[in-house]
Amino acid sequence: MNTRTSTKPSFSWLGGLFLLAAVIALGACAPSNASRSTLAQVSTFNALQMGLFDGDVPYARLKQLGDFGIGTFDGLDGEMVALDGVFYQVKADGKVSPATDDMEAPFADVHFFEAERSVTLKNPAKNYAELQAQLDQFLTKPNNLYAIKVKAVFPYIKVRSVPRQNEPFPTLADAIQQQTEFEHENMPGTLGGYWMPKYLVNVGVPGYHLHFISDDKQHGGHVLDCRVDKAEISMDALEHFTLVIPQGDTFHQMDVSATQTQ
Ligand SMILES: [Zn+2]
Repeated sequence: MNTRTSTKPSFSWLGGLFLLAAVIALGACAPSNASRSTLAQVSTFNALQMGLFDGDVPYARLKQLGDFGIGTFDGLDGEMVALDGVFYQVKADGKVSPATDDMEAPFADVHFFEAERSVTLKNPAKNYAELQAQLDQFLTKPNNLYAIKVKAVFPYIKVRSVPRQNEPFPTLADAIQQQTEFEHENMPGTLGGYWMPKYLVNVGVPGYHLHFISDDKQHGGHVLDCRVDKAEISMDALEHFTLVIPQGDTFHQMDVSATQTQ
């Protein structure tokens, strides 16, 4: 009897300990899972369209918010593409180099990529529009945001980068008039970026926004066109969205409520 009464509380104490351990483990996982399915965006797309090219968030901080993404640099100095934790700057002369921690982004989308779904391309896509039409089939929850990776040897790909702009900054549309375009054939590499629903107009870029980085990390840019015969596609549905609001005076003097035309 004595043994029973002493062991019974002892078992429940042990059970409580396990329960406590499980709660601690869950508690430790919860923020990490949430952050892993969270897109973090610096600034709003309409602010970028209006010419807010001042770097706001250091790349050191962006690297804490994701290991994958797209964006640009202070002064619109080239295209950013992040893959497997390495952030690259593709300058207007086509040169690609790793972004340093002290560089700043006026606009970026990043998250920690975890493929929820991996598929192969069903049919060859003759152009970017055909590729997008095939990707559409995997957007099973069209009010979510999606991260997309397309790994392939591209028979044809056309990308662009933009030269650094000087103050007073022009609009994005005017800056893009100075873009440099690069065409490549039989180029192995990865398209990476995001699809956003239309309700995020003003804040994000509705539809597909993909950048490219070659396997040898010598070429890249914002994707304008491509042809794809075979590809490995990975999708990551994103259930959370964090907006990093610029704190510079310029942003707070802008009327960012108006929808810009793309
Ligand atoms: Zn872009």
